[in-house]
Amino acid sequence: MMDLQQRKGLEHNKLLEFYCRKHINHICCLCLASHKPCTTSHPVQEAKAEKESHLKNRLTELYNQSEKASQALDEVRMQQR
Ligand SMILES: [Zn+2]
Ligand SMILES: [Zn+2]
Repeated sequence: MMDLQQRKGLEHNKLLEFYCRKHINHICCLCLASHKPCTTSHPVQEAKAEKESHLKNRLTELYNQSEKASQALDEVRMQQR
């Protein structure tokens, strides 16, 4: 009985292609929206998030440098008004 429920979601009658670790349950693409805060802890996405945070750190460094330039640009724009 449980096996059938795990193959197809009774709620939305859709294939349960996602897994929520937090609720220890298989979920369909429609359920995914309501599980968004918990599905972010999926192992695959964790690794991806780690890579992204590395990239983000690098981008932040670059951004901090370019922010000074854009701040200077803003000052010039303010003076022109
Ligand atoms: Zn569903
Ligand atoms: Zn969940």
